[in-house]
Amino acid sequence: MPIRSLLCMFFWGAFCFLYGETSLQLQPPDWARLDAFQGTLSKGKFKQTLHQVYCPRVSWYQDWIKLNEKEVLIRKKRGQDSWYALSFSDENQTISKNSDLLSADKKNTLNGVRIALDPGHIGGQYSEMEGRHFALNGSFPVKEGDLALSVAVRLKEKLSDLGATVKLIREKNEPVTVLRPNDFADEAEIWVRQRELLLKKMFNAEERAKLVRKRREVLFYRISEIHARAKLVNEVIRPDLVICLHLNAAPWPDPEQFELVKRNDFHVLVNGCFMGGELSDDNQRFEMVFRLVNRWNEAEKEIAEHLSHAFIHKTNLSIFNYKGPNALKVGDVPGVWARNLLANRSYHCPVVFLEPYVANSSDAYERIMLGNYKGKKKMNGEWKESLVEEYADSVLVGIKNSLLPDRK
Ligand SMILES: [Zn+2]
Repeated sequence: MPIRSLLCMFFWGAFCFLYGETSLQLQPPDWARLDAFQGTLSKGKFKQTLHQVYCPRVSWYQDWIKLNEKEVLIRKKRGQDSWYALSFSDENQTISKNSDLLSADKKNTLNGVRIALDPGHIGGQYSEMEGRHFALNGSFPVKEGDLALSVAVRLKEKLSDLGATVKLIREKNEPVTVLRPNDFADEAEIWVRQRELLLKKMFNAEERAKLVRKRREVLFYRISEIHARAKLVNEVIRPDLVICLHLNAAPWPDPEQFELVKRNDFHVLVNGCFMGGELSDDNQRFEMVFRLVNRWNEAEKEIAEHLSHAFIHKTNLSIFNYKGPNALKVGDVPGVWARNLLANRSYHCPVVFLEPYVANSSDAYERIMLGNYKGKKKMNGEWKESLVEEYADSVLVGIKNSLLPDRK
């Protein structure tokens, strides 16, 4: 059958933010923010958390982090012999912190719990630029950003009914950042020039113009956008938990023939698995240690595991497993992995990042085309809620089971 795609979109979702880039000029980290955590973690606890969640390979961190007997030294600035010293507590004195989020007395409601929902990407008129867009046979286009916002709107209603204070990080299919691609003309030009120097070749005029345009766009929709969201989360919303809502997509088997794939799966991400190159970045190194000493990994794992169970029970999705070194299996519950993404390391609170449904699978696509409806419709002999409703319900069940364990 003839298939027309508005955009050759190979993959999105789990493959977003592949390089965890931070190319915009950032302030150097304020290492004094670690002062409050002096003597709060034992060496055993620090090392175990480092290896099981944040950095599984000694070779990735040994140039940046040194575990001594009484303290951990963290290199403050790349290329300099200047270290922040964080003292350990005695081995049996690590405070048994079971995150405030999980241990608060909620009297069977989520009153007082502040949850920020982060609909992935921007959607709307930016979905093609973001590469989160496809359309088959002239049908209505599938836009990840728009779907994520629809899920967020429904989920906000459901969580608010339980008493939570819920904020959407974006409420429209529009950017949070006030900057636009043209604001990054100089940075894009410099980046392309650096690539030419690195590759020892000059791009021709056409290649060059395309690279500059692409770079401006990435700096806008990915990097500037996520930094703007982080500022909103960390300085204004100040939530107890962020839930990042995405849908996955699979590579098209044949880029010339956009045929829907069979694979339709899910996974849930917590922050972690910082690789060597990422730890060489001063800001990323700080963010990793800051997350570790705050012990946000404990709440992230607990909530992610309940979310994974909810998706297993409420959907027919299979479980996605990573094969490469950029993700680390966390705990024993299937579907829960750690990855270091700009969006899950920049929010200063526990963050869970959801990647259910492969939007270009035949099953998910058919459901997306039915739109968001009330009740159930029959699909291939089975009565099904709309995909948006099923997604929001699954998250609701996972959150209830993790934060309100007595209310199952
Ligand atoms: Zn995504």
